[in-house]
Amino acid sequence: SCSRPLGLCPKHAIGVSMNDSTSLPTATLGVPRMGPRRELKQALERHWTGASSDAELLDAAAALRAAHWARQHAQGITRIPVGDFSLYDHVLDLSMMVGVLPTAHAAAELPPLETYFALARGRQGRPGLPALEMTKWFDTNYHYLVPEFAPGQSFKPGPNKVLAEFLEARALGYRTRPVLLGPVTYLKLGKGESDPLRLLDGLLPVYVHLLRQLAEAGADEVQIDEPWLVMDADEATQQAYVSAYGRLARELPGLELMLTTYFGELGDNLETALALPVSGLHLDLSRAPHQLDQVLRHARPDHKLSLGVIDGRNVWRADLSGLLDRLEPVRDRLGPERLVIASSCSLLHVPTDLDLETDLDPDLKGWLAFAVQKMGELAILGRGLALGREAVRAELAETDKALAGRQSSAKVNDPSVASRVSGLDATMAERRSPYAARRQLQRAALRLPPFPTTTIGSFPQTAELRQARARHAKGAMTDADYADFLEAMTVEAVRWQEEIGIDVLVHGEFERNDMVQYFGERLQGYAFTAHGWVQSYGSRYVRPPVIFGDVGRPEPMTVRWSSFAQSLTTKPVKGMLTGPVTMLQWSFVRDDLPRQAVCRQIALALRDEVLDLEAAGIGCIQIDEPAFREGLPLRRKDWADYLAWAVQCFKIAAGGVADKTQIHTHMCYAEFNDIIDSIAAMDADVISIETSRSRMELLDAFVGYRYPNEIGPGVYDIHSPRVPDADEIRTLLDKALSNLAPEQLWVNPDCGLKTRGWAEVRPALLNMVAAAKALRLAS
Ligand code: GLN
Ligand code: ZN
Repeated sequence: SCSRPLGLCPKHAIGVSMNDSTSLPTATLGVPRMGPRRELKQALERHWTGASSDAELLDAAAALRAAHWARQHAQGITRIPVGDFSLYDHVLDLSMMVGVLPTAHAAAELPPLETYFALARGRQGRPGLPALEMTKWFDTNYHYLVPEFAPGQSFKPGPNKVLAEFLEARALGYRTRPVLLGPVTYLKLGKGESDPLRLLDGLLPVYVHLLRQLAEAGADEVQIDEPWLVMDADEATQQAYVSAYGRLARELPGLELMLTTYFGELGDNLETALALPVSGLHLDLSRAPHQLDQVLRHARPDHKLSLGVIDGRNVWRADLSGLLDRLEPVRDRLGPERLVIASSCSLLHVPTDLDLETDLDPDLKGWLAFAVQKMGELAILGRGLALGREAVRAELAETDKALAGRQSSAKVNDPSVASRVSGLDATMAERRSPYAARRQLQRAALRLPPFPTTTIGSFPQTAELRQARARHAKGAMTDADYADFLEAMTVEAVRWQEEIGIDVLVHGEFERNDMVQYFGERLQGYAFTAHGWVQSYGSRYVRPPVIFGDVGRPEPMTVRWSSFAQSLTTKPVKGMLTGPVTMLQWSFVRDDLPRQAVCRQIALALRDEVLDLEAAGIGCIQIDEPAFREGLPLRRKDWADYLAWAVQCFKIAAGGVADKTQIHTHMCYAEFNDIIDSIAAMDADVISIETSRSRMELLDAFVGYRYPNEIGPGVYDIHSPRVPDADEIRTLLDKALSNLAPEQLWVNPDCGLKTRGWAEVRPALLNMVAAAKALRLAS
């Protein structure tokens, strides 16, 4: 690593080659944007509230970029990216660079930064403008803004943001490698044009222009990201790659393109990728290590290979000795000048700096690596491969020791969990009787009216509640006082639900900070960080827990609150749990077990909770699985395997109860058409889904399938402050009933109400109950 002040380091100063004989080239493909203390969030939010000027925001962004470059340089990264930074989203940045704006946004002729934020977040006032749609970036929890193409969309170069950052870095003394999302992936990510590849011919001249500007400014290599190459691609898509990269090579001779793939294996796109006239290919060898041998067999003799060996998707310290065992023969075979040692994908998807974690268990801390530590790992590999293992002996020894400790640690391995998992048998995942028989028993036990009303679980997390939680966490409120406070809120919520005539009550989830964190904090094998934030979208970050060891449930987690609420009423109170797939999906998961094995452990812990709730007299238990669909693998061929174990885990959690206990599940953010068999196979007695925004369209999957069990299609859009009136809700219910049997239909909102205020929730639920009552009278 290099600690000399910028500009004084002979290896890295302007005009000096990026190459360095003491290390193989090392690359991160991008780094977290927010800054170690979430500085970007603060800068953005100040700007959005009008507390800072454009110039102040842009200065803060420039300072962050300078810090990102300095950090990478100090850690020994030789291919430092530029263009990976973004104020909000890199796909939106590209849309601005190639001139893709919806007509309304273009017509508004706002200054560029205002246009940018209007696209990102929508704009209130005149002119009011909607935000672009947002969706998941491949299988990550990062969300990008979907390019919106007009029919026959044309393109024109906008300000070249990547060039600006390249020049900015150079002024600070760095030679950097620009990053640009490639044209085929960009088109594939957009919407509004049924065959987006038709737009390729119009888009390529703009790419040529942007890349030529970079080349003229002195960039000799560009990282061009084409993650679509790991997706199922038809022949037309493969052909688009051939024509796009053929044209770029013809028009930009001398500019080296590092074609960058990540998040999986190239598979049947490998041949296409290897035939493209680019100088190099980056492979994700963390997700798909076996690709290396194939590529070594088929690469051109002058192909550069960027080996993505440091996992950009997870937080574990790498086995550096093991990696050197694999990489040394590759170096010997190809020669050091053809190799780059890299992270598997951008480090955007991991937290910034482990050193900020002062309260983590020291053993666990020794097993982890965040973005900064991963840069250090890349540098160790780079030096070890250039100079031999002796040069990095101390680093390897320290890593080996930490990893050996992890492998044998009693914190990781709990024989009682292992023996429970191996004792699982197929009957544990099955209810005792089929749904039709259970239904009779549940009707008798719960005595519900037709079209029963319920909610999804949480009630508003008021300012008062958040304050009390914060005071309790700081030690300024005693456990007893905090519990009293939560009890009072729960009493009030139960009374109110009874009063307005809800049929299946909830306790309100006031004791929960977050639906995963609450359970993670009560399960063995989970840990939480203080600063481990990753970007979800824009200025929204999440702090996923880390599953580091065998998961067990030392004691009941929710029974106290559910039975307290049940003690207040004769109506059924629904127990409320986060399901095993969601607990897995929204965490960083240990990498020494298959994901499905970890999921089974969580399922068994939740099964115990379900049985304890049942024993405490709770007759309805909801197991939320909002992340069920998110877990789908990128390639279709892998779906069946995932769906089989995901369904099985849900059923292990749910399957232990008596027939008369009613199991609910809840899913939002989902389309169901292509997974409806699996949803049905979960065999929940009742499923609630989000349907109000699509005006019941999402229900079509269930209808066409003739879904046999009960369904609560959401009738209240909880994402909007708008209060729906009873007629509007009734219209949605009638629409649902045109296809569902009346015995199937439940009446509930789209999702939990924690983000809303009571001022909206009270009238909305009153209207919902009124609509259900009117429907009962009419039927
Ligand atoms: N029970 C949870 C709640 O109501 C469900 C949240 C979710 O599905 N995202 O908050
Ligand atoms: Zn939901």
